[in-house]
Amino acid sequence: MLVMKFGGTSVSSKNSVEVICNLVEANIHKKPVIVVSALSKVTDSLVAICTKDNFSDAVLDNIYNKHAGLAREFLIGNDLELVLKYTKQCLNDVKNKLSKLFATSNNLAPLALKDEIVFYGEKMSSFLIATIIHNITKIDVRQILSSTCIVTNKKFGSADYLATSTKKNTRFVILPLIKQNVVPVVTGFAGATKDGEITTLGRGGSDYSASILGFALEATEIQIWTDVDGVYSTDPRVIKTAKLLPLLAYEEASELANLGAKVLHPRTITPAMLSKIPVKVLNTFNPNGVGTTIVDIVDEKKRRVKAITTKNSVPLITIKSNDMLFGKGFLKKVFDIFARFSISISLISVSEVSISITLENKENINEVLKQISKIGMVTYNEDYGSLSLVGGHIMDTPNLMNDIFTILEAANIKVHMISYSGSNINVSMVILSRDINRALELLHNHFIG
Ligand code: ADP
Ligand code: ASP
Ligand code: MG
Repeated sequence: MLVMKFGGTSVSSKNSVEVICNLVEANIHKKPVIVVSALSKVTDSLVAICTKDNFSDAVLDNIYNKHAGLAREFLIGNDLELVLKYTKQCLNDVKNKLSKLFATSNNLAPLALKDEIVFYGEKMSSFLIATIIHNITKIDVRQILSSTCIVTNKKFGSADYLATSTKKNTRFVILPLIKQNVVPVVTGFAGATKDGEITTLGRGGSDYSASILGFALEATEIQIWTDVDGVYSTDPRVIKTAKLLPLLAYEEASELANLGAKVLHPRTITPAMLSKIPVKVLNTFNPNGVGTTIVDIVDEKKRRVKAITTKNSVPLITIKSNDMLFGKGFLKKVFDIFARFSISISLISVSEVSISITLENKENINEVLKQISKIGMVTYNEDYGSLSLVGGHIMDTPNLMNDIFTILEAANIKVHMISYSGSNINVSMVILSRDINRALELLHNHFIG
Protein backbone atom coordinates (compact mmCIF):
# COMPACT_ATOMS: atom_id res chain seq x y z
CA MET A 1 0.00 0.00 0.00
CA LEU A 2 1.16 3.48 -0.86
CA VAL A 3 -0.07 6.63 0.90
CA MET A 4 -0.05 9.71 -1.34
CA LYS A 5 -0.84 13.06 0.25
CA PHE A 6 -1.58 16.12 -1.86
CA GLY A 7 -1.31 19.58 -0.30
CA GLY A 8 -3.44 22.70 -0.82
CA THR A 9 -1.83 24.02 -4.01
CA SER A 10 -1.70 20.50 -5.47
CA VAL A 11 -5.49 20.12 -5.28
CA SER A 12 -6.30 23.61 -6.53
CA SER A 13 -5.38 23.88 -10.20
CA LYS A 14 -6.47 22.04 -13.34
CA ASN A 15 -2.92 20.99 -14.23
CA SER A 16 -2.02 19.66 -10.81
CA VAL A 17 -5.29 17.74 -10.47
CA GLU A 18 -4.57 16.15 -13.85
CA VAL A 19 -1.20 15.10 -12.44
CA ILE A 20 -2.97 13.57 -9.43
CA CYS A 21 -5.19 11.52 -11.77
CA ASN A 22 -2.14 10.34 -13.73
CA LEU A 23 -0.30 9.40 -10.55
CA VAL A 24 -3.23 7.40 -9.23
CA GLU A 25 -3.43 5.51 -12.52
CA ALA A 26 0.32 4.92 -12.71
CA ASN A 27 0.46 3.62 -9.14
CA ILE A 28 -2.75 1.62 -9.07
CA HIS A 29 -0.86 -1.69 -8.72
CA LYS A 30 0.69 -0.34 -5.49
CA LYS A 31 -2.79 0.11 -3.98
CA PRO A 32 -2.72 3.85 -3.36
CA VAL A 33 -4.51 5.58 -0.50
CA ILE A 34 -4.98 9.26 -1.32
CA VAL A 35 -4.97 11.96 1.38
CA VAL A 36 -5.96 15.51 0.51
CA SER A 37 -5.74 18.93 2.12
CA ALA A 38 -8.34 21.63 1.67
CA LEU A 39 -8.07 23.77 -1.47
CA SER A 40 -5.51 26.56 -1.23
CA LYS A 41 -6.42 29.23 1.39
CA VAL A 42 -9.75 27.58 2.26
CA THR A 43 -8.58 26.67 5.77
CA ASP A 44 -7.41 30.27 6.30
CA SER A 45 -10.89 31.51 5.31
CA LEU A 46 -12.66 28.99 7.55
CA VAL A 47 -10.41 29.92 10.48
CA ALA A 48 -11.15 33.60 9.86
CA ILE A 49 -14.95 33.25 9.91
CA CYS A 50 -14.82 31.55 13.29
CA THR A 51 -14.56 35.13 14.59
CA LYS A 52 -17.85 37.05 14.45
CA ASP A 53 -16.32 40.20 12.91
CA ASN A 54 -15.01 38.23 9.93
CA PHE A 55 -18.09 36.07 9.40
CA SER A 56 -19.71 36.95 6.09
CA ASP A 57 -21.56 35.42 3.17
CA ALA A 58 -18.87 36.81 0.87
CA VAL A 59 -16.26 34.49 2.40
CA LEU A 60 -18.57 31.49 2.02
CA ASP A 61 -19.34 32.46 -1.59
CA ASN A 62 -15.65 32.72 -2.34
CA ILE A 63 -15.04 29.21 -0.97
CA TYR A 64 -17.96 27.88 -3.02
CA ASN A 65 -16.65 29.51 -6.19
CA LYS A 66 -13.21 27.98 -5.76
CA HIS A 67 -14.67 24.47 -5.63
CA ALA A 68 -17.24 25.10 -8.32
CA GLY A 69 -14.58 26.60 -10.62
CA LEU A 70 -12.33 23.56 -10.34
CA ALA A 71 -15.28 21.17 -10.63
CA ARG A 72 -16.37 22.84 -13.90
CA GLU A 73 -12.87 22.34 -15.36
CA PHE A 74 -13.43 18.57 -15.26
CA LEU A 75 -17.06 17.65 -14.71
CA ILE A 76 -20.41 18.01 -16.39
CA GLY A 77 -23.93 16.65 -15.83
CA ASN A 78 -24.69 14.52 -12.81
CA ASP A 79 -21.14 14.44 -11.40
CA LEU A 80 -20.94 18.23 -11.51
CA GLU A 81 -24.36 18.56 -9.86
CA LEU A 82 -23.35 16.15 -7.11
CA VAL A 83 -20.18 18.09 -6.31
CA LEU A 84 -21.96 21.45 -6.33
CA LYS A 85 -24.71 20.09 -4.08
CA TYR A 86 -22.23 18.56 -1.63
CA THR A 87 -20.18 21.78 -1.48
CA LYS A 88 -23.29 23.88 -0.96
CA GLN A 89 -24.50 21.56 1.80
CA CYS A 90 -21.14 21.76 3.61
CA LEU A 91 -21.12 25.55 3.45
CA ASN A 92 -24.75 25.69 4.63
CA ASP A 93 -23.77 23.58 7.62
CA VAL A 94 -20.90 25.96 8.35
CA LYS A 95 -23.19 28.96 8.05
CA ASN A 96 -25.89 27.47 10.28
CA LYS A 97 -23.46 26.40 12.99
CA LEU A 98 -21.72 29.77 13.15
CA SER A 99 -24.90 31.87 12.81
CA LYS A 100 -26.38 30.00 15.74
CA LEU A 101 -23.27 30.64 17.82
CA PHE A 102 -22.92 34.32 16.92
CA ALA A 103 -26.62 34.91 17.62
CA THR A 104 -25.74 34.34 21.28
CA SER A 105 -23.24 36.61 23.00
CA ASN A 106 -20.28 34.61 21.63
CA ASN A 107 -17.88 36.43 19.31
CA LEU A 108 -15.48 33.56 18.87
CA ALA A 109 -16.08 29.88 18.13
CA PRO A 110 -14.80 27.63 20.92
CA LEU A 111 -11.92 25.35 19.91
CA ALA A 112 -14.05 22.23 19.44
CA LEU A 113 -16.50 24.00 17.13
CA LYS A 114 -13.62 25.66 15.26
CA ASP A 115 -12.16 22.21 14.49
CA GLU A 116 -15.55 21.03 13.28
CA ILE A 117 -15.81 24.09 11.01
CA VAL A 118 -12.31 23.97 9.48
CA PHE A 119 -12.67 20.24 8.76
CA TYR A 120 -15.29 21.15 6.13
CA GLY A 121 -12.38 22.36 3.96
CA GLU A 122 -11.03 18.82 3.68
CA LYS A 123 -14.53 17.34 3.38
CA MET A 124 -15.24 19.48 0.33
CA SER A 125 -11.86 18.89 -1.32
CA SER A 126 -11.94 15.12 -0.82
CA PHE A 127 -15.41 14.85 -2.37
CA LEU A 128 -14.36 17.01 -5.30
CA ILE A 129 -11.03 15.24 -5.92
CA ALA A 130 -12.58 11.76 -5.53
CA THR A 131 -15.26 12.63 -8.09
CA ILE A 132 -12.71 14.02 -10.54
CA ILE A 133 -10.38 11.01 -10.21
CA HIS A 134 -13.28 8.66 -10.90
CA ASN A 135 -14.54 10.74 -13.79
CA ILE A 136 -11.15 10.96 -15.50
CA THR A 137 -9.68 7.51 -14.77
CA LYS A 138 -12.84 5.41 -14.28
CA ILE A 139 -11.11 3.88 -11.26
CA ASP A 140 -13.43 3.14 -8.34
CA VAL A 141 -12.87 5.64 -5.56
CA ARG A 142 -14.49 6.34 -2.20
CA GLN A 143 -14.40 9.51 -0.09
CA ILE A 144 -13.37 8.61 3.44
CA LEU A 145 -13.64 10.96 6.40
CA SER A 146 -10.48 10.64 8.49
CA SER A 147 -12.66 11.12 11.57
CA THR A 148 -13.70 7.47 11.09
CA CYS A 149 -10.04 6.35 11.07
CA ILE A 150 -7.84 8.57 13.22
CA VAL A 151 -8.67 8.55 16.93
CA THR A 152 -7.15 11.42 18.88
CA ASN A 153 -6.95 12.94 22.33
CA LYS A 154 -9.08 15.98 23.12
CA LYS A 155 -6.48 18.62 22.37
CA PHE A 156 -8.62 20.54 19.90
CA GLY A 157 -6.59 22.52 17.38
CA SER A 158 -3.46 20.41 17.84
CA ALA A 159 -4.60 16.89 18.66
CA ASP A 160 -2.42 13.81 18.83
CA TYR A 161 -3.38 10.35 17.61
CA LEU A 162 -3.94 7.33 19.82
CA ALA A 163 -1.98 4.57 18.11
CA THR A 164 -3.91 1.42 19.04
CA SER A 165 -7.44 2.62 18.34
CA THR A 166 -6.31 4.50 15.23
CA LYS A 167 -4.71 1.37 13.82
CA LYS A 168 -7.82 -0.68 14.52
CA ASN A 169 -10.28 1.82 13.02
CA THR A 170 -8.14 2.67 10.00
CA ARG A 171 -7.67 -0.95 9.05
CA PHE A 172 -11.36 -1.66 9.58
CA VAL A 173 -12.37 1.18 7.26
CA ILE A 174 -9.64 1.07 4.60
CA LEU A 175 -8.60 -2.56 4.14
CA PRO A 176 -11.94 -3.83 2.74
CA LEU A 177 -11.83 -1.05 0.12
CA ILE A 178 -8.29 -1.98 -0.88
CA LYS A 179 -9.38 -5.62 -1.24
CA GLN A 180 -12.08 -4.50 -3.66
CA ASN A 181 -9.61 -2.36 -5.64
CA VAL A 182 -11.31 0.84 -4.52
CA VAL A 183 -9.04 3.87 -4.05
CA PRO A 184 -9.85 5.68 -0.77
CA VAL A 185 -9.62 9.48 -0.95
CA VAL A 186 -9.21 10.46 2.67
CA THR A 187 -9.59 13.89 4.26
CA GLY A 188 -6.30 15.11 5.71
CA PHE A 189 -5.82 17.27 8.79
CA ALA A 190 -8.43 15.82 11.16
CA GLY A 191 -9.45 12.95 13.37
CA ALA A 192 -12.03 12.49 16.08
CA THR A 193 -12.02 11.81 19.81
CA LYS A 194 -13.32 8.52 21.19
CA ASP A 195 -16.67 10.30 21.62
CA GLY A 196 -16.72 11.27 17.95
CA GLU A 197 -15.91 14.97 18.33
CA ILE A 198 -13.90 16.30 15.37
CA THR A 199 -10.33 17.34 16.17
CA THR A 200 -7.63 18.83 13.95
CA LEU A 201 -3.94 18.01 14.13
CA GLY A 202 -2.59 21.57 13.86
CA ARG A 203 -2.14 23.80 10.80
CA GLY A 204 -0.45 21.94 7.97
CA GLY A 205 -1.57 18.70 9.65
CA SER A 206 -2.46 16.77 6.49
CA ASP A 207 1.17 15.65 6.26
CA TYR A 208 0.84 14.25 9.76
CA SER A 209 -2.42 12.48 8.97
CA ALA A 210 -0.82 10.84 5.92
CA SER A 211 1.97 9.52 8.11
CA ILE A 212 -0.51 8.29 10.73
CA LEU A 213 -2.48 6.43 8.04
CA GLY A 214 0.75 5.00 6.61
CA PHE A 215 1.69 3.72 10.05
CA ALA A 216 -1.78 2.26 10.66
CA LEU A 217 -1.89 0.53 7.27
CA GLU A 218 1.76 -0.56 7.38
CA ALA A 219 2.23 1.14 4.02
CA THR A 220 5.35 0.56 1.95
CA GLU A 221 5.85 4.28 1.40
CA ILE A 222 4.36 7.65 2.37
CA GLN A 223 4.53 10.30 -0.33
CA ILE A 224 4.02 13.97 0.46
CA TRP A 225 3.21 15.76 -2.81
CA THR A 226 3.67 19.53 -2.55
CA ASP A 227 4.66 22.59 -4.59
CA VAL A 228 8.47 22.37 -4.37
CA ASP A 229 10.89 19.64 -5.53
CA GLY A 230 11.45 18.23 -2.04
CA VAL A 231 13.12 19.28 1.20
CA TYR A 232 15.73 21.97 0.56
CA SER A 233 18.65 23.27 2.60
CA THR A 234 16.36 26.19 3.48
CA ASP A 235 13.06 27.60 2.20
CA PRO A 236 13.73 27.92 -1.55
CA ARG A 237 11.22 30.76 -1.73
CA VAL A 238 13.38 32.80 0.66
CA ILE A 239 16.92 31.84 -0.43
CA LYS A 240 17.18 31.26 -4.17
CA THR A 241 20.43 29.27 -3.88
CA ALA A 242 18.83 26.68 -1.55
CA LYS A 243 19.89 23.12 -2.46
CA LEU A 244 17.59 20.13 -2.79
CA LEU A 245 18.39 17.41 -0.24
CA PRO A 246 17.84 14.04 -1.97
CA LEU A 247 18.34 11.97 1.19
CA LEU A 248 17.62 12.69 4.85
CA ALA A 249 17.50 10.62 8.01
CA TYR A 250 14.20 10.59 9.96
CA GLU A 251 15.84 12.47 12.80
CA GLU A 252 17.18 15.18 10.52
CA ALA A 253 13.84 15.66 8.78
CA SER A 254 12.07 15.68 12.10
CA GLU A 255 14.37 18.37 13.52
CA LEU A 256 13.99 20.43 10.34
CA ALA A 257 10.22 20.27 10.56
CA ASN A 258 10.18 21.03 14.28
CA LEU A 259 12.53 23.95 13.87
CA GLY A 260 10.52 25.72 11.21
CA ALA A 261 10.69 24.04 7.76
CA LYS A 262 7.06 24.42 6.71
CA VAL A 263 7.36 21.76 4.00
CA LEU A 264 6.53 19.10 6.63
CA HIS A 265 4.21 19.37 9.61
CA PRO A 266 6.42 19.08 12.73
CA ARG A 267 4.99 15.72 13.81
CA THR A 268 4.94 14.06 10.37
CA ILE A 269 7.99 11.90 10.83
CA THR A 270 7.18 10.15 14.10
CA PRO A 271 4.48 7.68 12.95
CA ALA A 272 6.49 6.73 9.83
CA MET A 273 9.62 6.30 11.89
CA LEU A 274 7.83 3.92 14.28
CA SER A 275 7.33 1.44 11.45
CA LYS A 276 10.41 2.48 9.47
CA ILE A 277 8.31 3.49 6.46
CA PRO A 278 10.20 5.66 3.94
CA VAL A 279 8.74 9.15 3.48
CA LYS A 280 9.17 10.88 0.13
CA VAL A 281 8.61 14.57 -0.52
CA LEU A 282 7.72 15.20 -4.17
CA ASN A 283 6.55 18.01 -6.43
CA THR A 284 3.10 17.75 -8.05
CA PHE A 285 4.23 20.47 -10.46
CA ASN A 286 7.34 18.47 -11.47
CA PRO A 287 6.25 14.85 -10.94
CA ASN A 288 9.38 13.35 -12.53
CA GLY A 289 11.77 15.02 -10.10
CA VAL A 290 13.80 12.85 -7.69
CA GLY A 291 12.36 14.51 -4.59
CA THR A 292 13.62 13.87 -1.08
CA THR A 293 13.68 10.41 0.46
CA ILE A 294 13.57 10.24 4.25
CA VAL A 295 14.74 6.97 5.77
CA ASP A 296 16.10 5.45 8.95
CA ILE A 297 19.84 5.84 8.59
CA VAL A 298 21.84 7.93 6.22
CA ASP A 299 25.38 6.67 6.03
CA GLU A 300 27.58 9.61 5.22
CA LYS A 301 31.26 10.00 5.85
CA LYS A 302 31.43 13.77 5.64
CA ARG A 303 29.71 15.60 8.49
CA ARG A 304 28.24 18.91 7.53
CA VAL A 305 25.50 21.43 8.00
CA LYS A 306 22.76 20.14 5.71
CA ALA A 307 20.05 22.70 6.25
CA ILE A 308 19.18 25.91 8.06
CA THR A 309 15.68 26.66 9.26
CA THR A 310 14.21 29.73 10.85
CA LYS A 311 11.19 30.82 12.83
CA ASN A 312 10.59 34.52 12.47
CA SER A 313 8.96 34.90 15.83
CA VAL A 314 9.41 32.80 18.96
CA PRO A 315 8.00 33.84 22.33
CA LEU A 316 10.96 34.08 24.72
CA ILE A 317 10.80 33.88 28.50
CA THR A 318 13.76 34.55 30.75
CA ILE A 319 13.55 33.66 34.40
CA LYS A 320 16.10 34.77 36.97
CA SER A 321 16.32 33.39 40.44
CA ASN A 322 19.00 32.81 43.07
CA ASP A 323 21.19 29.71 43.42
CA MET A 324 19.36 28.43 46.44
CA LEU A 325 16.07 28.05 44.59
CA PHE A 326 17.85 26.17 41.84
CA GLY A 327 19.12 23.74 44.41
CA LYS A 328 15.57 22.95 45.47
CA GLY A 329 14.08 21.76 42.18
CA PHE A 330 13.51 25.15 40.62
CA LEU A 331 13.40 23.75 37.08
CA LYS A 332 10.71 21.27 38.04
CA LYS A 333 8.54 24.09 39.36
CA VAL A 334 8.96 26.00 36.10
CA PHE A 335 8.23 23.01 33.88
CA ASP A 336 5.19 22.08 35.94
CA ILE A 337 3.70 25.49 35.21
CA PHE A 338 4.22 25.12 31.43
CA ALA A 339 2.79 21.61 31.52
CA ARG A 340 -0.27 22.76 33.46
CA PHE A 341 -1.07 25.34 30.79
CA SER A 342 -0.21 23.00 27.87
CA ILE A 343 2.60 25.17 26.58
CA SER A 344 5.32 23.29 24.68
CA ILE A 345 8.88 24.36 25.15
CA SER A 346 11.09 24.59 22.08
CA LEU A 347 14.61 25.71 23.02
CA ILE A 348 16.11 26.05 26.45
CA SER A 349 19.36 27.34 27.88
CA VAL A 350 20.21 27.27 31.57
CA SER A 351 22.83 29.09 33.65
CA GLU A 352 23.43 29.21 37.42
CA VAL A 353 20.88 31.93 37.98
CA SER A 354 18.74 32.15 34.89
CA ILE A 355 16.83 30.12 32.33
CA SER A 356 15.89 31.25 28.84
CA ILE A 357 13.10 29.35 27.16
CA THR A 358 11.43 29.71 23.78
CA LEU A 359 7.85 28.52 23.47
CA GLU A 360 5.98 26.67 20.73
CA ASN A 361 2.69 28.32 21.56
CA LYS A 362 1.60 31.20 23.74
CA GLU A 363 -1.94 30.43 24.78
CA ASN A 364 -2.56 31.36 28.43
CA ILE A 365 0.75 33.22 28.44
CA ASN A 366 -0.44 35.91 30.86
CA GLU A 367 -1.51 33.34 33.40
CA VAL A 368 1.78 31.48 32.97
CA LEU A 369 3.80 34.66 33.51
CA LYS A 370 1.78 35.40 36.63
CA GLN A 371 2.52 31.95 38.06
CA ILE A 372 6.23 32.07 37.18
CA SER A 373 6.66 35.53 38.69
CA LYS A 374 5.82 33.92 42.03
CA ILE A 375 9.05 31.88 41.88
CA GLY A 376 11.47 34.18 40.07
CA MET A 377 11.97 37.41 38.17
CA VAL A 378 10.49 36.95 34.74
CA THR A 379 10.76 38.85 31.46
CA TYR A 380 8.79 38.09 28.33
CA ASN A 381 9.70 39.13 24.81
CA GLU A 382 8.26 38.70 21.33
CA ASP A 383 11.00 40.47 19.37
CA TYR A 384 13.06 37.37 18.75
CA GLY A 385 13.18 34.54 16.24
CA SER A 386 15.20 31.35 16.01
CA LEU A 387 17.69 30.07 13.48
CA SER A 388 18.77 26.42 13.52
CA LEU A 389 21.55 24.62 11.70
CA VAL A 390 20.67 20.97 11.13
CA GLY A 391 22.63 17.87 10.08
CA GLY A 392 23.51 14.48 11.60
CA HIS A 393 26.62 14.71 13.84
CA ILE A 394 26.63 18.42 13.22
CA MET A 395 29.13 19.15 15.96
CA ASP A 396 31.80 17.27 14.00
CA THR A 397 31.63 19.97 11.30
CA PRO A 398 35.07 21.58 11.29
CA ASN A 399 35.17 25.08 12.85
CA LEU A 400 31.39 25.12 13.24
CA MET A 401 30.99 27.40 16.25
CA ASN A 402 33.95 29.57 15.39
CA ASP A 403 32.58 30.23 11.90
CA ILE A 404 29.06 30.94 13.13
CA PHE A 405 30.23 33.52 15.66
CA THR A 406 32.79 35.14 13.36
CA ILE A 407 30.20 35.60 10.60
CA LEU A 408 27.46 36.92 12.88
CA GLU A 409 29.79 39.21 14.78
CA ALA A 410 31.14 40.73 11.56
CA ALA A 411 27.53 41.45 10.55
CA ASN A 412 26.79 42.94 13.96
CA ILE A 413 24.14 40.30 14.69
CA LYS A 414 23.88 39.48 18.38
CA VAL A 415 23.14 35.93 19.51
CA HIS A 416 20.80 36.19 22.47
CA MET A 417 20.74 32.50 23.33
CA ILE A 418 22.21 29.28 21.96
CA SER A 419 21.09 25.69 22.37
CA TYR A 420 22.65 22.39 21.21
CA SER A 421 20.56 19.27 20.79
CA GLY A 422 21.67 16.31 22.84
CA SER A 423 21.25 14.18 19.73
CA ASN A 424 24.03 16.13 17.96
CA ILE A 425 21.67 17.10 15.15
CA ASN A 426 21.12 20.81 15.56
CA VAL A 427 22.50 24.03 16.90
CA SER A 428 19.85 26.68 17.44
CA MET A 429 20.23 30.36 18.12
CA VAL A 430 17.80 33.01 19.25
CA ILE A 431 18.37 36.36 17.55
CA LEU A 432 16.30 39.47 16.93
CA SER A 433 13.53 38.81 14.39
CA ARG A 434 14.69 41.69 12.26
CA ASP A 435 18.14 40.01 11.87
CA ILE A 436 16.87 36.52 11.03
CA ASN A 437 16.86 36.69 7.23
CA ARG A 438 20.23 38.45 7.11
CA ALA A 439 21.76 35.80 9.37
CA LEU A 440 20.15 33.03 7.31
CA GLU A 441 21.61 34.36 4.08
CA LEU A 442 25.12 34.77 5.52
CA LEU A 443 25.24 31.36 7.21
CA HIS A 444 23.62 29.58 4.24
CA ASN A 445 26.20 31.14 1.88
CA HIS A 446 29.03 30.03 4.11
CA PHE A 447 27.99 26.50 5.09
CA ILE A 448 25.92 25.41 2.09
CA GLY A 449 26.80 27.79 -0.73
P1 ADP B 1 1.38 21.97 1.07
O1 ADP B 1 0.20 22.85 0.89
O2 ADP B 1 1.68 21.12 -0.12
O3 ADP B 1 1.33 21.20 2.35
P2 ADP B 1 3.18 23.89 2.29
O4 ADP B 1 2.97 25.31 1.87
O5 ADP B 1 2.63 23.49 3.61
O6 ADP B 1 2.63 22.95 1.12
O7 ADP B 1 4.73 23.51 2.27
C1 ADP B 1 5.49 23.74 1.11
C2 ADP B 1 6.26 25.05 1.26
O8 ADP B 1 7.22 24.90 2.31
C3 ADP B 1 7.11 25.42 0.06
O9 ADP B 1 6.35 26.14 -0.88
C4 ADP B 1 8.25 26.23 0.68
O10 ADP B 1 8.08 27.62 0.50
C5 ADP B 1 8.15 25.95 2.17
N1 ADP B 1 9.42 25.52 2.79
C6 ADP B 1 9.92 26.00 3.95
N2 ADP B 1 11.08 25.43 4.25
C7 ADP B 1 11.36 24.55 3.27
C8 ADP B 1 12.43 23.65 3.01
N3 ADP B 1 13.47 23.53 3.86
N4 ADP B 1 12.38 22.89 1.90
C9 ADP B 1 11.34 22.97 1.05
N5 ADP B 1 10.30 23.83 1.22
C10 ADP B 1 10.29 24.61 2.31
N1 ASP C 1 -5.80 22.44 5.32
C1 ASP C 1 -5.01 22.41 6.52
C2 ASP C 1 -4.22 23.69 6.68
O1 ASP C 1 -4.24 24.55 5.81
C3 ASP C 1 -4.12 21.21 6.61
C4 ASP C 1 -3.03 21.13 5.58
O2 ASP C 1 -3.07 21.84 4.58
O3 ASP C 1 -2.11 20.32 5.76
O4 ASP C 1 -3.62 23.88 7.71
MG1 MG D 1 1.76 21.75 4.31
